Amino acid sequence: MKGEIFDIKHFAVHDGPGIRTTIFLKGCPLHCVWCHNPEGMKRGRDLWVKREACIHCGTCVHTCPKQALSFRDGEVSVDRSLCDFCNLCVEKCPSRAMRRIDRMADTKELTELLKREQLFSDVTGGGVTISGGEPLYQPEFLLELLKSMKEAGIDTCIETSMFAPQRVLEEIAPYLDRFLVDIKILDEETHKKYTGVSNRQILSNFRYLAGLGKPILVRVPLIPGITATEENLRGIRSFVDSVDPKLQIELLNFNSFAGTKYRFLDKTYFDEELRAFPKEEFERLCSYVEVR
Ligand code: SF4
Ligand code: SF4
Repeated sequence: MKGEIFDIKHFAVHDGPGIRTTIFLKGCPLHCVWCHNPEGMKRGRDLWVKREACIHCGTCVHTCPKQALSFRDGEVSVDRSLCDFCNLCVEKCPSRAMRRIDRMADTKELTELLKREQLFSDVTGGGVTISGGEPLYQPEFLLELLKSMKEAGIDTCIETSMFAPQRVLEEIAPYLDRFLVDIKILDEETHKKYTGVSNRQILSNFRYLAGLGKPILVRVPLIPGITATEENLRGIRSFVDSVDPKLQIELLNFNSFAGTKYRFLDKTYFDEELRAFPKEEFERLCSYVEVR
């Protein structure tokens, strides 16, 4: 079975235990204003221009049969309404500044890739982590992929917002060894405001997953003024305590480089001025979610 992916990260060390290969599935039903992977938000074909890598040779502009490319203010500009994704600019660009950020991959191909990297993952207690976008957004492909990975003896982990019908989780859970789950905002209205969806299903699914007894790590992305408030973090700790007080919560510091990716896609980031929390502030925020 084929599914849509936008990236594969090799030798990842922050996506679960050991050295892991992380596969990023494309598409997400949430629209978090701070999304750090904007190239994974929507399904379908897309093109990005890494302007920092461009050497201004003009090859892409002359190559494009649709006249979708031009130079504006000294930089390559894409008229996305004209592009038909023929890929010529990607193939001809000498500096790999043009890139397609969608690709179809099949379960067999991805499992073979993981088998080749199994030596590293096995000795370190690693495996595969399926991330996104939101992996639950391609449930049939995800299920087949996990089955295939388990048949190959690979440790499986998912990084998810848990936003899906519970039956999707029921189907995939037997083929997962561990879960990295996001709880971003506890207050429902605030969650809707910043992610576009209610968190009711998410919190309900968390209770379901915790009941399975498999390893779960809760993660909270720290977004200044949105998720990174004492009230929200203490609220998330209390909610997790009410389900299983032994569960750990990990805070992910704000990634101030995410804005660059928005420029590659000709999108505007919600706040270019935000920066990661300095050490003391980060530690203070962590103290709100520690297991007591
Ligand atoms: S993918 Fe094809 S149509 Fe689109 S910008 Fe590149 S060359 Fe032009
Ligand atoms: S082909 Fe690549 S390096 Fe040359 S102008 Fe286009 S994007 Fe820049």
